Amino acid sequence: MTVKHPREHGRESRDLEINPIFSREPLRVPRYAMPHGEMEPDTAYQLVHDELMLDGNARQNLATFVSTWAEPEAQRLMAECAEKNMIDKDEYPQTAELETRCVHMLARLWHAQNPHRAVGCSTTGSSEAAMLGGLALKRRWQHRRRAEGKPADRPNLVMGINVQICWEKFADYFEVEPRYVPMEGDSYHLTPERAAELCDENTIGVVAVLGSTFDGSYEPVAGICAALDDLQSRTGIDVPVHVDGASGAMIAPFVDPDLEWDFRLPRVASINTSGHKFGLVMPGVGWALWRDEEALPDDLVFHVNYLGGDMPTFALNFSRPGAQVVAQYYNFLRLGFDGYRRVQQTCRDVATRLARRIGELDAFELITDGSETPVFAFRIRDGVRNFSVFDVSAALRERGWLVPAYTFPENRTDLAVLRIVVRNGFSHDLADLLMEDIRRVLTRLEKQGEPHRDADDAGGFAHGAETKNARTPGRD
Ligand SMILES: *Cc1c(COP(=O)(O)O)cnc(C)c1O
Repeated sequence: MTVKHPREHGRESRDLEINPIFSREPLRVPRYAMPHGEMEPDTAYQLVHDELMLDGNARQNLATFVSTWAEPEAQRLMAECAEKNMIDKDEYPQTAELETRCVHMLARLWHAQNPHRAVGCSTTGSSEAAMLGGLALKRRWQHRRRAEGKPADRPNLVMGINVQICWEKFADYFEVEPRYVPMEGDSYHLTPERAAELCDENTIGVVAVLGSTFDGSYEPVAGICAALDDLQSRTGIDVPVHVDGASGAMIAPFVDPDLEWDFRLPRVASINTSGHKFGLVMPGVGWALWRDEEALPDDLVFHVNYLGGDMPTFALNFSRPGAQVVAQYYNFLRLGFDGYRRVQQTCRDVATRLARRIGELDAFELITDGSETPVFAFRIRDGVRNFSVFDVSAALRERGWLVPAYTFPENRTDLAVLRIVVRNGFSHDLADLLMEDIRRVLTRLEKQGEPHRDADDAGGFAHGAETKNARTPGRD
């Protein structure tokens, strides 16, 4: 948590003791106060560098969906663009141009009927993109209600309880009632019937997730749209769909080209993705696209100066780094469609093979098998009573592997799982090494009398798969 005050560590000093190799410097600097004077840049560098050694090894982080590897050329371009501010369209028109090209490429990738009419922008990630997508849905609904002379003060948003935490934030920050469809039985994500059931005249939209955070599965976007078509024909209620494709919108176009989840479905109004997940860019970029100008109300758009002209923008931030957008363009150019297809197919091959081998162990049972997004979840088989998923997670951590364990949300809070995200750079070879460590860990855990850890010991690295707060913001 970054919002906490620094903890007092008992007898531990609040100053940083500087190793004597930096003998030209004062030997102590304050930890939580700005030092009074300067120090040599190389001393400061070494100090910061050394502290950061305690961060985990990102390549062994199988919890995160976010890129942990980039080509040296992408890294070089990012360093060259480190000073560029995305909002300065006038000063850096070519960075703005590359952003526009990326939006057009994504509009084509996601089958916008008329890519020239699709509108979109880069963001800091899918969370900001989700806020923008949600705001557009809310504003469109408000305009429609007011035009009909009806109240517009009780908006709701329908989604599965498996949505990423950003949607709970959207509902809370922008005062929209979240209507979560709970998990039931073996159904771990939104289903068409339940989505349509929860909609009414105050529903601003349905969020369908392509690549559920909890288990990597695709939600049935086409089925959800069909159920909403049916709802409209029965009741006249017309509910648009936003697709949260944080992971899946950069997977499905390349390896599931026949799956219809995108702008081919007329009900899909907007789509977001994380450029820094399977878009293969280092942390700091996402994308939000609307199928046409009508889907993005004009009164949400602000205008900045661009080569003396006018450039419409829609963003929560003003200043924002341009380097990630440049790196996204580099990746599109460098890999092309076929390069992305090969990277994503390899991730899927590694994920499905690793999942299959884990599923063959006596200890585990698969929830998903990595054949949609290259992400899968697995549980401990019924009847195994001497260790928990939390024990497995902790034991793997001893070898540097970060494999999160967490409990599913309502109504399956009885179900605890482990999850593995396979990203570019996690090879068959690394998967074999992980497999050896899993076997080694199981040999030890099988000798335990009973589980040692439960959900309270999990350390909270579920990456957005946290339990939802069922409270309805802004209401009683
Ligand atoms: C990761 C993720 C998000 C949040 O994306 P960021 O880019 O980390 O802000 C939202 N939705 C889903 C489905 C995700 O996987």
